[in-house]
Amino acid sequence: MTASDGRPRIYVLECRVCAQPSGAGRYFCASCGILNAAESNAAYAASPRARLAAFLLDYLIIWLTAGVGWLLWLAIVARRGQSPGKALLGLRVCDRTGRAASARLVWLREFGWDAAVGTVLFVVLLLLGAVARSVGDLLELWFWLTVLFWLVSFGDAARLLRDADRQSWHDRALGTLVVGGR
Ligand SMILES: [Zn+2]
Repeated sequence: MTASDGRPRIYVLECRVCAQPSGAGRYFCASCGILNAAESNAAYAASPRARLAAFLLDYLIIWLTAGVGWLLWLAIVARRGQSPGKALLGLRVCDRTGRAASARLVWLREFGWDAAVGTVLFVVLLLLGAVARSVGDLLELWFWLTVLFWLVSFGDAARLLRDADRQSWHDRALGTLVVGGR
């Protein structure tokens, strides 16, 4: 596209906060990390370290409360776009405008991915189970499918390390971002 004087028009996306180039097609500013589409509150991309810490906290709480306490806690904080681990660290799940994710989306984010991967693997187990000759065969299959499940989960999480907007695969699938204050 050219301006009326014939010279090429150059668009530079400038961050509304730090006034540095914010990076084309990115939700978070490449320079300062603020969520540019969010008008009111200062939302920054949550760091991979904070994401990992929240994940580990969630698992610790699940383990300590046999899952029940964690579920009750989730029922309260999901409305704010958080899981218990995220709530403790001040992280929250939002859409690209910074609006907190709905409780439904938070539940889907916590369970949808695991359920989808788990279902696929379960079907594989059923199909392979039909040709398994012994219980030992089935247990071995179960073991390898569990290993596969965790590999897929780690691959999903590892994606956020090299993503400009720190989105894992399940974040991309659901259109969610994870933000934290600074
Ligand atoms: Zn900026």
